[in-house]
Amino acid sequence: MHIKELVLNDFKSFGRKTRIPFYEDFTVITGPNGSGKSNIIDGVLFALGLARTRGIRAEKLTDLIYNPGDDGEATGGGVREASVEVILDNSDGNVDRSQVVNAAGTDKVGDVEEISIRRRVKETDENYYSYYYLNDRSVNLSDIRDLLAQAGVTPEGYNVVMQGDVTEIINMTPFQRREIIDEIAGVAEFDAKKEDAFAE
Ligand code: ATP
Ligand code: MG
Repeated sequence: MHIKELVLNDFKSFGRKTRIPFYEDFTVITGPNGSGKSNIIDGVLFALGLARTRGIRAEKLTDLIYNPGDDGEATGGGVREASVEVILDNSDGNVDRSQVVNAAGTDKVGDVEEISIRRRVKETDENYYSYYYLNDRSVNLSDIRDLLAQAGVTPEGYNVVMQGDVTEIINMTPFQRREIIDEIAGVAEFDAKKEDAFAE
């Protein structure tokens, strides 16, 4: 399974609908400073709900909504919105249909050769709201988490290696480094479940 395409809509510096293709093996994004490369990674973390522990670069969720700045047009109505869709290529069947059906809570998920995970943040005058969708079905973050965990993508995992992570790993004690290996090997999940069970 790999990311096939990212669709950003009014997310951070992407003030218009932007589609970014990803290749199966390797994709490199280059561009001048401040052109939005890191914002693309923030988009992936935001959409997949991985942001809390992997440090998205924003103080609050609504900072992620495109801000046209001084020379931009005023956004009328007081409602602002951003969304990011991650389209996963699941043609290798890494995640099977039953898992998608389970996470979406309905069998009307369509074809699962492609899995779409979308998150939307909306700001009104009084409040803000966050929504997740799986193949266009409204779901909770926990549903997305469960599904991604089947494919080995977890917030604690190292699917996303942030700036500074490598230095941090080098400076760790052997014990801390072992914890990372447990996490990547998928053992940590069972340790956590065991601890939860003992706590109950
Ligand atoms: P570098 O090479 O320096 O790492 P980069 O390509 O990674 O640069 P980003 O950090 O992705 O650049 O983009 C930073 C830009 O995004 C800044 O110009 C900032 O003003 C803009 N930006 C961040 N949030 C928003 C927002 N909500 N609305 C509009 N622009 C935003
Ligand atoms: Mg950057």
